[in-house]
Amino acid sequence: MTHSHEKIIIIGAGAAGYTAAIYAARANLSPVILAGLQPGGQLTITTDVENYPGFSDVIQGPWLMQEMQKQAENVGARVVYDIATSINASSSPMQITLDGGDVLTADSIVIATGAQARWLGLESEAIFNGRGVSACATCDGFFYKERDVVVIGGGNTAVEEALYLSNLCRSVTLIHRRDTLRAEQILQERIFKQPNISVEWNYTVTEILGNDDGVNAVSLKSTKNDDEKKISTHGVFVAIGHDPATKPFKNILELDDEGYIKVKSGTTLTSKSGIFAAGDCVDKVYRQAVTAAGMGCMAALDAEKYLASIDD
Ligand code: NAP
Repeated sequence: MTHSHEKIIIIGAGAAGYTAAIYAARANLSPVILAGLQPGGQLTITTDVENYPGFSDVIQGPWLMQEMQKQAENVGARVVYDIATSINASSSPMQITLDGGDVLTADSIVIATGAQARWLGLESEAIFNGRGVSACATCDGFFYKERDVVVIGGGNTAVEEALYLSNLCRSVTLIHRRDTLRAEQILQERIFKQPNISVEWNYTVTEILGNDDGVNAVSLKSTKNDDEKKISTHGVFVAIGHDPATKPFKNILELDDEGYIKVKSGTTLTSKSGIFAAGDCVDKVYRQAVTAAGMGCMAALDAEKYLASIDD
């Protein structure tokens, strides 16, 4: 069993975690990154990335994350391939227990564990993931310019994605399992006004159909009767919610009703002094690699300030 003490430990190796590590390393804090179950985060299950600034050609999500990791290591961060299972925030210094049994101690912690999109759980959804099936319209909508797409869900995300896609695509069909939307009224009014958005009420998707060229239709089943039908589509956007990866922290930090870590507005300060949070484990609105990276930077700067204050 290893016991090591660090000035700063970053939990999570996505865009937020690596950016926090780059800034912390350059501030001479020798950060350790705990890479968790999916090093690289959600971008490792993305293919083409066109919206991360600095790259005029299309880049690949996994490549971008490898570059972020190399950049963090080149400036002095150390990546540990293990999972943080619990934090003891009342001990001094704070303790992090890892799945492999090691215990690390830290003067400050940045949580950047991200979130995962919820999927329908269909076999065909997994087969076409990245080839017609997506959970992010802002990331992938551009690839469906002037084409027909469907969005599944009835919350704010689904309605915002439908609105975003309606400016790019020929038609957008929102498929919702009930006859009322959960989304805010103002967003609902906007989709009802948009001529190229239609809604299939009271239907669930039972299969995503396609071939080597990608998706070409979805099969729907009524939630009210035995009705079944198929609709043609080139793209399927699943927008049925996200799950932030915050379970190990629920007894030590204040989380909102949906499990996102609460931070002081405009900062990355959590309810526990010395613990900072950044990226999709905090943010349920923007959810972009670039916004996560920005918050990672903020977390490192907030942690640096905190460490200077305890040194004083
Ligand atoms: P959400 O509010 O939980 O809505 C999920 C939607 O997906 C619901 O309509 C739900 O249907 C449907 N759904 C869930 N599981 C399903 C399944 N297996 N099959 C078919 N449909 C399914 O999630 P969200 O829209 O991602 O929003 C999450 C949080 O982020 C909310 O608090 C939201 O307000 C917030 N948010 C805010 C903004 C903003 O402020 N601009 C933008 C996006 C999100 P039912 O309605 O039948 O349950």
